[in-house]
Amino acid sequence: MPWKTLDDMDFARKRALVRVDINVPVEDGEVTDTTRIDRIIPTVEDIRAKGGKVILMAHFGRPKGQVVPEMSLEIIAPAVADALGLPVTWVNSDYGDAVAEMTDDEVLLLENLRFNPGEEKNDEAFAKRLASLGDIYVNDAFSAAHRAHASTEAIAHLLPSCAGRLMAEELRALEKALGTPDRPVMAVVGGAKVSTKLDLLGNLVGKVDHLVIGGGMANTFLAAQGIDVGKSLCEHDLADTARDILAKAEAAGCEIVLPRDIVVAREFKEHAEGQTVAPDACPADAMILDAGPETVAYINQVMEAAKTLVWNGPLGAFEIAPFDAATNAAASHAAALSKAGSLISVAGGGDTVAALNKAGAADDFTYISTAGGAFLEWMEGKTLPGIAALG
Ligand code: ADP
Ligand code: MG
Repeated sequence: MPWKTLDDMDFARKRALVRVDINVPVEDGEVTDTTRIDRIIPTVEDIRAKGGKVILMAHFGRPKGQVVPEMSLEIIAPAVADALGLPVTWVNSDYGDAVAEMTDDEVLLLENLRFNPGEEKNDEAFAKRLASLGDIYVNDAFSAAHRAHASTEAIAHLLPSCAGRLMAEELRALEKALGTPDRPVMAVVGGAKVSTKLDLLGNLVGKVDHLVIGGGMANTFLAAQGIDVGKSLCEHDLADTARDILAKAEAAGCEIVLPRDIVVAREFKEHAEGQTVAPDACPADAMILDAGPETVAYINQVMEAAKTLVWNGPLGAFEIAPFDAATNAAASHAAALSKAGSLISVAGGGDTVAALNKAGAADDFTYISTAGGAFLEWMEGKTLPGIAALG
């Protein structure tokens, strides 16, 4: 690995500036989901066990370089203290004496970095000011690594730097899935639109052996082959792009799997009557809302021969039953194969994680990335500035 981890650093009597993602949902001043806070515990505990002091740095919401009281990290500090079982001292944007006076028993939490306009501008002066507060920089916020900000990029050039536990775990899982995967490797890409996932599809056709295209974006591919998709969600203006992707896949020896049967309905509402038909048989007044059972059977067959699966995007309009059927069935199969040890499965994306949870499949996937935008940019094959700066 080109980046260092906590194991490579000497934290004894040092102050570690740890960039974390604790951008949690808050209602009426209370944190309603502590998942992101809970996930930073191993890094904080390890640094302290190695004799270091921890200063947490984070953003909260989008204050856009201004002080917005409702977005103060002071609100989150008690939940961080609860999770860590340690006193957590919130430090206002002046920083000042709190750092010099820090005791061994406390953890500091700096005010929302995005209150300072220098943060999102990757400003050197702001990075220097942050760097002056500590001795070692630790980045544990993979989900913020696609942004070149002062606390994710510039600061890494100013101090000895390494990845925290969560970041290292995420990087290892992702590297295993697409960097040096066990083959055959397959990807499932679904969701609403091709336009949001063009770079992702372009990158995957050069890397995977099988690419399943599902969801609304499959309609664009069907239409590009001259099929009438009725009232389905479809980006007709992307027909050429879709054909380019098919040609690129063929040249790269990547099998593209499109729906072999489709579920159509005239209304998009709970328990609407769905009908399974051939891909070219969508009635003019109907919409394609899911893949059919024959498609799922084929996807599952490819999965059984595969060693690695990367998944982003549901196969249908999963929010509303019965159009969650294909997503649920394929997700359950991937979960079972992963549990049995024959498949390494990695999934990410906001709706994808929700869909896999809904299917009861998420727990058995090898790795679920909660990183959203950073996960998608990684799937696009982009170099994430926050990771590059650690190297
Ligand atoms: P992610 O957030 O995991 O990256 P997307 O946002 O790309 O995923 O896609 C999720 C959305 O795609 C869901 O809201 C789902 O309803 C929608 N979708 C999937 N298939 C269809 C379809 N056939 N028609 C309309 N919408 C669809
Ligand atoms: Mg989404």
